[in-house]
Amino acid sequence: MRPFRYEAAADRSQAIAAARAGALAAEAHVLAPTQYLAGGTTLIDLMKIDVMRPQTLVDINALAGQHGQIELTPEGLKLGALVRMAQAAEHPGVRHDYPVIAQSLQLAASPQLRNMASLGGNVLQRTRCPYFRDTSWGACNKRDPGSGCAAMDGINRQHAILGGSADCIAAYPGDFAQSLIALDATVVVKGSAGGRTLPFATLHRPPGATPNLETTLAPGELITGFHVPSGPWTKRSLYLKIRDRQSYEFALASAAVALDMDGSKVREARIALGGVATVPWRSREAEAALAGKELTEDTAQAAARAAFAGAKPRVHNAFKVALGQSTLVRALLQAVAMEG
Ligand SMILES: Cc1cc2nc3c(=O)[nH]c(=O)nc-3n(C[C@H](O)[C@H](O)[C@H](O)COP(=O)(O)OP(=O)(O)OC[C@H]3O[C@@H](n4cnc5c(N)ncnc54)[C@H](O)[C@@H]3O)c2cc1C
Ligand code: SF4
Repeated sequence: MRPFRYEAAADRSQAIAAARAGALAAEAHVLAPTQYLAGGTTLIDLMKIDVMRPQTLVDINALAGQHGQIELTPEGLKLGALVRMAQAAEHPGVRHDYPVIAQSLQLAASPQLRNMASLGGNVLQRTRCPYFRDTSWGACNKRDPGSGCAAMDGINRQHAILGGSADCIAAYPGDFAQSLIALDATVVVKGSAGGRTLPFATLHRPPGATPNLETTLAPGELITGFHVPSGPWTKRSLYLKIRDRQSYEFALASAAVALDMDGSKVREARIALGGVATVPWRSREAEAALAGKELTEDTAQAAARAAFAGAKPRVHNAFKVALGQSTLVRALLQAVAMEG
């Protein structure tokens, strides 16, 4: 592990100031020289394997008093960025009113990790592409811009079939993000230039020609929380995750689904797909295929076909088309059987 500076911030303004000072002091060639430290469950791993090399870590755990609350109001759900995954997954109100949020967190990682890991850190976790995480591979555009992509013709079983580019096909690994994007959540961020709120759907950048740039956050911007608007679809929502082992594992395919029903017809469906795409993936195609229709095995199948119509599988991950489709069909049929 390389040497780094550690600063513990007492509050938000100190954290932002320390991140700014760290960035100004950084050597020019270092990518992402300052990182906030929340649970540290993925950042420290990436530093140990030399994939991330920050020169300054700003510990934000003391901000839990300011940004570690869960608030349920008639307008929606507010989640502080320092809320731990387990806290939100086990919160009775979240489980009852926003099951898709609770389940996407409960089905992620292991109990120990969920106790430690924060929601802000969760959405910013980086890909599990093995070539990205193993520095003995020279070709990885995400880790070393312009070096190529070892996964294109390598072992790409875990990789994305939606949203890839000629430069990167790494799958976005998180689960919680799929429930946020399905429910039209927003993200609150603060930086040295002030604060802003952005749609969660615009937080992650598709890889394009710059897979090293993963989010639209400016350097030093701090996520302080998430807002999830309530709607007639939030209670009838669920997260279904398919993985290689049941104890803890990243998704091979997953579906976050929320339904607003008018009798047996779909008034509005919210659908996001995990494990199959380079960024949290809202499937407007599947949603449009269901609007105004009865939700049956046939219409669910049609929606699933629409969701994957643009898929670009590679040698080892073609199975994700059928797996992603069947995951979505199962999720939709389970959701329609729920009470709204
Ligand atoms: C074995 C294992 C299995 C896992 N399985 C799953 C899984 O199945 N599903 C899943 O979704 N996840 C899984 N994870 C990932 C896990 O959920 C993340 O490691 C965790 O959520 C990260 O949160 P953290 O608080 O520890 O983040 P940290 O490691 O502290 O930070 C992660 C990144 O976010 C940045 N950051 C943190 N907080 C903020 C903030 N408020 N504002 C701006 N930047 C911030 C940090 O600078 C860093 O770049 C797994 C991890 C491991 C190790
Ligand atoms: S898929 Fe992306 S992260 Fe993986 S090797 Fe290629 S460029 Fe790197």
